[in-house]
Amino acid sequence: MPRSDAALRPLKPSDLAFKFRAGVPCLLLVETLGEWTGRRYERVRSGAMWMAWLRRMKLPVPGLPIGDDDLSDMRSLRDAVYHTAESVRASRLPPVDAIAQINAWACRAPPPRLLDGSGMALEPPAHVANAHVLALLAQDAIALFSSEARDRIKICASPTCPVLFLDRSRRGDRLWCSSTCGARLASARYRQRFLPALSDSV
Ligand SMILES: [Zn+2]
Repeated sequence: MPRSDAALRPLKPSDLAFKFRAGVPCLLLVETLGEWTGRRYERVRSGAMWMAWLRRMKLPVPGLPIGDDDLSDMRSLRDAVYHTAESVRASRLPPVDAIAQINAWACRAPPPRLLDGSGMALEPPAHVANAHVLALLAQDAIALFSSEARDRIKICASPTCPVLFLDRSRRGDRLWCSSTCGARLASARYRQRFLPALSDSV
């Protein structure tokens, strides 16, 4: 199925579930919006869902309820990280306002890392604001884009899965965001090769 036809496929409940294929926190944040170049569906549709995503990521969870402004801040940072990652991947200069947005969030100091009573583990921070969590994600983005790992930012080779991911393979030859996409493409190729009569249903 060509990339443009993916937009015609109706959304399934599994499309809206959180996915964790991008390999690094800032790109996992980007992945909370489905198909940036297609249907652009939101996977974080409430404050409770944002907190659930942070828990799954093992990131600090804000103490106060998440409001619309907090979600809007998250989406602004996510947008900036996406446009920067996509520009870096395509060897283009990122938009100026995207860089400014990431830098501004990175300046919002995240909570300090504290030792717990055992002296061997971290104590959960007493108070975390949404801005602190966004600062952590912005700093993760800066660490990625300013390192050689930026050359490993890729887009999944599956025509129906425009996910940006960090290729952590030793040889840097990974094509798919996940083994699921690799297996799906391999089985589609198999059917096209050996069962041409079924190729219309791929
Ligand atoms: Zn994929």
